[in-house]
Amino acid sequence: MNALVKQHLIDPEICIRCHACEEACPKDAISHNSDNVVVDAGICDGDMSCIGPCPTGAIDNWLMVAAPHPLETQFEWMELPEAVTHSPVEAQPDPPARDATSTTKKRRPPKIPAPASASEPVINLHTPSRPVEVEVQGNYRLTGEGTEADIHHIILSLEGVDYPVLEGQHVGIALPGKDANGRSHAQRRYTISSPRDGERPGKGNISLTVRRIPGGLCSNYLCDLKRGDKIEITGPYGASFLMPNDPAARLIMICTGTGAAPFRAFTMRHQRVMPEVTGALHLFFGARSPDQLPYFGPLAKVPDSLLTKHFAFSRVEGAPKQYVQDKLREDADSIAPMFGQPTTHIYVCGLKAMEKDVEAALAEIAASTGQDWDKLRDEMTNSGRYHIETY
Ligand SMILES: Cc1cc2nc3c(=O)[nH]c(=O)nc-3n(C[C@H](O)[C@H](O)[C@H](O)COP(=O)(O)OP(=O)(O)OC[C@H]3O[C@@H](n4cnc5c(N)ncnc54)[C@H](O)[C@@H]3O)c2cc1C
Repeated sequence: MNALVKQHLIDPEICIRCHACEEACPKDAISHNSDNVVVDAGICDGDMSCIGPCPTGAIDNWLMVAAPHPLETQFEWMELPEAVTHSPVEAQPDPPARDATSTTKKRRPPKIPAPASASEPVINLHTPSRPVEVEVQGNYRLTGEGTEADIHHIILSLEGVDYPVLEGQHVGIALPGKDANGRSHAQRRYTISSPRDGERPGKGNISLTVRRIPGGLCSNYLCDLKRGDKIEITGPYGASFLMPNDPAARLIMICTGTGAAPFRAFTMRHQRVMPEVTGALHLFFGARSPDQLPYFGPLAKVPDSLLTKHFAFSRVEGAPKQYVQDKLREDADSIAPMFGQPTTHIYVCGLKAMEKDVEAALAEIAASTGQDWDKLRDEMTNSGRYHIETY
């Protein structure tokens, strides 16, 4: 029998095609076509120079094979073959605790409290009059070419910058230039879609999930950024839509489109720090079709024991239109028993238009368990367990 060899591979589902690995490889073993970045097993000698510069960790995959996968095969991959081993993702120590009041301006308690067990956020560290400059590490289109939703995964390096974040917080973008009246543009907010210890653990970076709005000033500015560009950000912001630290907490997360950003961060945090806690995360996610649903592939791969996934698609040929509120009703049995439990948290994020319909579905589910939704919602809101972030 042939001896197995260890082949170095790049995960096409996580890679943002920034080509930092390609530049770092002293042997020129890494190359790309318009689809994928790949490693030539005939050249790669495991020198590892490419591992450090990767902002996502997509570079760090290894497979025991009898015969290495050739480049042509790797160029075709939409995902890695099974049995790839990843270097274990080490949970990084949390950023050092800091006295939030010493760094925040005019700190008031949020109108809607954060979950009681959430970490203390730092907010307003960098203001519109004093933004901080950060570098773009990569910018990758998440949704299918030619589909209506043009959603980008943008990674910003926070190296050397004082910018501690928690899952659920957002950044402000200070746009360059002036408006028609000669004033600075109003800043726009974007939710951080990576966990507190980084898109890649310990890498000191964050990711944003940005949808290009036709004619939109900031979304087009962000979606057109290139690796190495410098932009100014403010914040961090958000002291309420945060994740509980309590392992007993059960989260129902409901979103459309870029509303997935905080839930990607919640899920990654959970996977990194409490992978043994099962049955805690439940995601209801609506999009037109799978290729317009950001992070569809990686999310689908999170084991059901960690994250139950309920996808609703409204434009799949041959299938009836389904919206996220329909999916909530259809799969009500899986979450109804959680209604009324003091450990249950509900989060809604995405377009404003979804809010009313989602609430109507939640009210029906509550009623099916004999509960008065208005009362339950107020109770949950006041105890920091019901959060809505729509825009
Ligand atoms: C707390 C918070 C978090 C947010 N998180 C995200 C996020 O993670 N990802 C993300 O992509 N956006 C997010 N947004 C929305 C983002 O801040 C901008 O509003 C959005 O990107 C549009 O900005 P723009 O400068 O491109 O458009 P503008 O130049 O401000 O507007 C151009 C035109 O587009 C319309 N428009 C604005 N927003 C939308 C929209 N969403 N859909 C359709 N038309 C629109 C406007 O009415 C206007 O006519 C968030 C907003 C808030 C308040």
